[in-house]
Amino acid sequence: MTFATISWSAACDACGAALHCSGTQAVVGDRLRWDEEHLCPGCGTTVLVCGDTLPDHLRTRMLAEHGAARLALSDLPDRRLPILRVLRNDGGRTLPEARALLELILGGGHHGTGPEIELLARKLRAVGVAAEAVRQP
Ligand SMILES: [Zn+2]
Repeated sequence: MTFATISWSAACDACGAALHCSGTQAVVGDRLRWDEEHLCPGCGTTVLVCGDTLPDHLRTRMLAEHGAARLALSDLPDRRLPILRVLRNDGGRTLPEARALLELILGGGHHGTGPEIELLARKLRAVGVAAEAVRQP
């Protein structure tokens, strides 16, 4: 689950031919990257964009195509502090936000794309917390 790819088709703005569109989200080092590519077989138009925070339209497609992943934790509740520290550092959350997210995770209510959850699981494993990204059934 270190990367997820989707592909779809859309009409080319320039010539109307069917574009080949694809999007990828991946864990690269300790962060997330995404890219989106549009290739037109009709007029040769190529669009390539990339960034770190996945745009909503790609995220929605990715969740629809691959389903959501969730974070599975073990060895709780005696190891909450390192978990909270990781959750705070990840995205600059406040402590109350990190606590709320941990409750969500423990309740199985925190979902994301495979790479998003995989990155969080890696950060948690790096501080000695047994965490795993699992597919939603
Ligand atoms: Zn075209």
